[in-house]
Amino acid sequence: MGIEEKSRKVKSGPTTLEDCGFLQMMGYDLECVIDLFEIKKDSTFIGTTADCIYEKLKSIDGFKDLASGFEGLGTEFDVILKIGATQNASANGQAWWRGSNQPIEITFNEIKMNRSALEVARTIVHEMVHAELYRAINTTNPTEKELDFRETFNTYVMMYRGSADQQHNLMADEWVTKMGEILKDVHQMLDSDGYNTFKNVYYPNGIPDHFYKSVAWDGLQGTIAWNLMKNITTTPPIKSPLEIITQDIDNVKRGRKNCL
Ligand SMILES: [Zn+2]
Repeated sequence: MGIEEKSRKVKSGPTTLEDCGFLQMMGYDLECVIDLFEIKKDSTFIGTTADCIYEKLKSIDGFKDLASGFEGLGTEFDVILKIGATQNASANGQAWWRGSNQPIEITFNEIKMNRSALEVARTIVHEMVHAELYRAINTTNPTEKELDFRETFNTYVMMYRGSADQQHNLMADEWVTKMGEILKDVHQMLDSDGYNTFKNVYYPNGIPDHFYKSVAWDGLQGTIAWNLMKNITTTPPIKSPLEIITQDIDNVKRGRKNCL
């Protein structure tokens, strides 16, 4: 029997296609499916504002691309989304690679879930990039693109040996623009009334693209790219890149917390 023929959802009971197929063979009247989005939600995540934000992100093309490595039949690695305590108590979230046979665990820090909706969206995107990097590094069946990526990543590993910030440096160099685009696309969807109020108060001429890129920079302070950017000076009244980012990051904190 082809895998397609079995592709129907089992709400409870067997959790793998193999288990389900086995039960079918045993004569149980079951339909088996592999959930096409292999990003699972822990009970601590389901129904929260973060869950609502995540569901909106799932409709954004850039986010779909980011998550695509975890989609489809028999994906190699799963991701599980949780809300709870993080190892670093002041982190917004953490992505934990626990080995090839375990799902990549993303835990959002429960004490940081009360930030503005766009900040929470940024944390979800940031942690998903970590998950995607872990996936691309560890897949046993790399595509051409992933092989290229590994070469790039190995350069980062060599440059930042012993540093926990290899992924952040790579993110700062290669992902900030894409992360900003995702945040731009999702912003209005989170709470359209809140979006309009935010725009009128902070960016009456329209929210510039640099705002979203600045938001994406949050969490990447201390990377080489950040330090280079930080050192760029300008002559007043022209604002320096750091001044612009600092202002934008300050503004995003004042956005609404709703996801409607
Ligand atoms: Zn990070």
